[in-house]
Amino acid sequence: MMQLSEKAAYVKGLIEGLELDPKDKQTKVFKVVADLLCEMAEEIKELGQCYDDVCDQVDGISEDLAGVEDMIGSETFGSVSYDNDAADDSEMAYEVTCPTCGTTTYLGENSLNAGVIRCPSCSEVLELGYVEDELDDTEDSEESSEE
Ligand SMILES: [Zn+2]
Repeated sequence: MMQLSEKAAYVKGLIEGLELDPKDKQTKVFKVVADLLCEMAEEIKELGQCYDDVCDQVDGISEDLAGVEDMIGSETFGSVSYDNDAADDSEMAYEVTCPTCGTTTYLGENSLNAGVIRCPSCSEVLELGYVEDELDDTEDSEESSEE
């Protein structure tokens, strides 16, 4: 199978073989296109070599990772998989602002179930009320603003 660079050189040779008038504007275009083809073929060849290098490195990393996986244990490693995204979606994040110091704390569902948290900044006890009812008001205001 012919390499891209060989094909490009072949096309360039064909164009030169036409013995076109060097003063003709079309000849100029042909030459530029032929040069461009050769350059692109070279570039693609280099990219291909880089790609091979990267593949080799990825293979090496995979092998190293397999070793790490064995050390940690496959069960532990499995829990750090991409499935975590789904878990994050189901766990609602709540935002609580401390009335004493104004620090905003983000809570997971676990903290919320406790009902009360301590402000990480000033240790003020914050009671957590339900804020879901207020969401209906914001929906109404959005509708009216669209009109
Ligand atoms: Zn505070």
